[in-house]
Amino acid sequence: MLSMLCPDLYVPSICQVDLSRLVARGINGMVLDIDNTFVDWGSSDIPAPVLAFFDEAKARGLRLCMLSNNFRGRVEAISGILGIPAARGLKPMRPAFRAALALLGTSPRETAVIGDQIFTDVLGGNLAGMYTILVIPTSRREFVTTRIVRKLERAVLGCLMRRGMLALQGRAGTAGQGEACRR
Ligand SMILES: [Mg+2]
Repeated sequence: MLSMLCPDLYVPSICQVDLSRLVARGINGMVLDIDNTFVDWGSSDIPAPVLAFFDEAKARGLRLCMLSNNFRGRVEAISGILGIPAARGLKPMRPAFRAALALLGTSPRETAVIGDQIFTDVLGGNLAGMYTILVIPTSRREFVTTRIVRKLERAVLGCLMRRGMLALQGRAGTAGQGEACRR
């Protein structure tokens, strides 16, 4: 069970995901969580480095789609700003990830999921057989229920790190981004 909660990669922010390495490992599509992954919770203000990251991903030929269980209006607004299609669904349930894969037209093995939550983004992506990337939340603001889940998430993260299954990669001053040890 613990391995299903372990991301393949753990980085401080989405902008520190090394796109060349993703492409090199055969990734052709990315499923993106929205809130606290690339915008602060409830915000539609997308930071310039994030826009540049998406532009680079598109330029490298990666297909992108968003997957969120947030309100339709908010998801569609951000989808419109970015020009990236969006699927809505309850993560970590399989239909949500299947809907995202259908939008991308990619197989699970060639698809990465990027998100800030272990029990939704990482668990759902792992169950679907995708490459999973965990980022540190962009802000501390979030649903009350999410704040409660974070306590359990911190315990899982601590456990994964103590067991040597996971390490935060790509921090300034380190040798760069590596792979989380997994499974
Ligand atoms: Mg999120």
